[in-house]
Amino acid sequence: MSETNTPNPKPSIAIPDTAHFRRETRLVHSGSLRSQYGETSEALFLTQGFVYDSAEQCEARFTGDDAGFQYSRFSNPTVFSFEQRMAEFEGAEAARATATGMAAVTAAMLAPLRAGDHVVASKAMFGSCRYVVEDLLPRYGIESTLVDGLDLDQWQKALRPNTRTCFLESPTNPTLDVLDIGAIAEIAHAGGARLVVDNVFATPIWQSPLALGADVVVYSATKHIDGQGRCLGGVVLSTQAFIEEHIQMYLRQTGPSLSPFNAWVLLKGLETLAVRVRAQTETAAAIADALAGHPKIPRLVYPGRADHPQAATVKKQMGAGSTLIGFEVAGGKAEAFRFLNALKLIRISNNLGDAKSLVTHPATTTHQRLKPEARAELGISEGFIRYSVGLEHKDDLIEDIVAALEKV
Ligand SMILES: *Cc1c(COP(=O)(O)O)cnc(C)c1O
Repeated sequence: MSETNTPNPKPSIAIPDTAHFRRETRLVHSGSLRSQYGETSEALFLTQGFVYDSAEQCEARFTGDDAGFQYSRFSNPTVFSFEQRMAEFEGAEAARATATGMAAVTAAMLAPLRAGDHVVASKAMFGSCRYVVEDLLPRYGIESTLVDGLDLDQWQKALRPNTRTCFLESPTNPTLDVLDIGAIAEIAHAGGARLVVDNVFATPIWQSPLALGADVVVYSATKHIDGQGRCLGGVVLSTQAFIEEHIQMYLRQTGPSLSPFNAWVLLKGLETLAVRVRAQTETAAAIADALAGHPKIPRLVYPGRADHPQAATVKKQMGAGSTLIGFEVAGGKAEAFRFLNALKLIRISNNLGDAKSLVTHPATTTHQRLKPEARAELGISEGFIRYSVGLEHKDDLIEDIVAALEKV
């Protein structure tokens, strides 16, 4: 296998030009590859490999002189469609899909770095992202410093001459802090580092990190992009140069490729993403308003409310609140569990971004690995609940929550 960085395979049929359309239109049409049969819905190319008309064509395919695909670990028409649709929607030059969100995060962090480099990251993040930054990278000589992402001074002070990457997620999981992406990008760039943003909680509908100054965006497509709890997937978006220089060869040779089947599901998920996220956000905002001030909820965090601690930053960088709400049930773990067990419609899960409403107790699930002091520092108390709002009628959800709170 040649180690030369040949361009990633591209389809030999025309890709529709949709860049001039508005974003919702691009979610439905970008990247569609219509075959000779003229199908309305995107075809699913569930194939590992491709055959060639001649040995010469095969050779040309490998040198990149002939457009077309070679092997689905490198690229596949359905995966390509998903990548193209994501890139056009996000306003990125290029995108590469991965098997999971964590494969996307790991690729974006690990692939461009080498021993001796340094990473600065906000300590409030998804548990597995924290593992990559705090445990995995240092094993290979890539040191990391965790900071309070809300404190710009800490970002500034943590930067070293060898800092290559800054990493954050906003809103944070699970406490929904909102970090100032533009300001942190400026600090990173002034120090010669790139900023990678995990944009899962905001979704591409409400926040565009690249437009705010970030260099790389990653998604777990498992969440809102699928949106119906079916498939795992991920995607890395950035400039053509970053993808070609760092991501393409890494993915191609190490193999965390997205299955064409999952790519097809995610591609169809994108068609309804805007409608779903808007409806879920509207419901979440109504529920947050209905629950705020409830005597058994001493603390409620929702990025769309005026009482959110970073309401000004929300206004500056997000189109609307979020499909997630964080709140504390009075009485610690015992009462939080009583509340969770009393819910009838909303289900207990560690997942999010689903059409079905899901609640999580972060202290005993997603953030169980952290020491109690680390959880306390992040505001993940024993009574804290993360609620991913689904597509149900808001009154059924409010009734379910209020009835369960009565059992507390
Ligand atoms: C779920 C999630 C991930 C990981 O995604 P997977 O698809 O489960 O691998 C990464 N970051 C955030 C913020 C997430 O919510």
